[in-house]
Amino acid sequence: MTKPQTFLALNWKMNKTPSESVQWAEDLLGQLGDLNIKLAIMAPSVSLAGLSGVLGDSQVGLGAQDISQHDSGAYTGEVSAAMLKDLGVKYAVIGHSERREYHFESDAVVAAKAAQAIKNGIVPIVCVGEKLSEREAGEQVSYTLNQLRGSLAGVSIQSADDLVIAYEPVWAIGTGKTATAQDAEDMCAEIRGVLKELYPAFAKQIVVQYGGSVKPDNIQEICGKPNVNGALVGGASLQVAGVTGMVDALK
Ligand code: PEP
Repeated sequence: MTKPQTFLALNWKMNKTPSESVQWAEDLLGQLGDLNIKLAIMAPSVSLAGLSGVLGDSQVGLGAQDISQHDSGAYTGEVSAAMLKDLGVKYAVIGHSERREYHFESDAVVAAKAAQAIKNGIVPIVCVGEKLSEREAGEQVSYTLNQLRGSLAGVSIQSADDLVIAYEPVWAIGTGKTATAQDAEDMCAEIRGVLKELYPAFAKQIVVQYGGSVKPDNIQEICGKPNVNGALVGGASLQVAGVTGMVDALK
């Protein structure tokens, strides 16, 4: 069985104004040659409409950084999956560790959001991963798999393309500390084991990404591992040169 196509998702977090986003995307499109990977920008909600106009049907997809678990109604400040879909959004980061920590999102909320995304034809990139305390206690595998099961409870899919998982050890996010390629492979293989139980028909082709201080000089080794099918990238995704550097490294 061949590996699924490598998927590089750019998580801008709370960076770039809408006009900066548009300029950035125009610069990127001007510099990208034909891609041999999947590439998408996960942008703040206010930038999605402008980006949608620039990216259109190009080879760069559009993603959000969160969605509401509710359909519509009295949820001030929330953005629904249907609203995002209307803008041409194809992906949504769900359950990023920053949302789990600063917005107290539980596994149950993450699962509800993932189901809501799928129901509306948006692919959730469901994030899981241990903190430093769990890794130091040697409990990273049980912690991460438990979080994965909780974050996918009741989430059903019709094809391998309906779901992406991102393994993001929290201690490696934005810290410059990267898990070794073998650490990433070991956990992504464990994650795929759970996916085989939950989605036996699709598990081999579900994209499992690694995230945590990925950059041009380490992406090739990490994504070369059998169970790692791409990366969710924060810091290195903010500069066009960082993105073209990672794209080139994967050629
Ligand atoms: C992230 O935000 O998901 C992330 C992995 O960030 P960074 O690449 O900066 O570690």
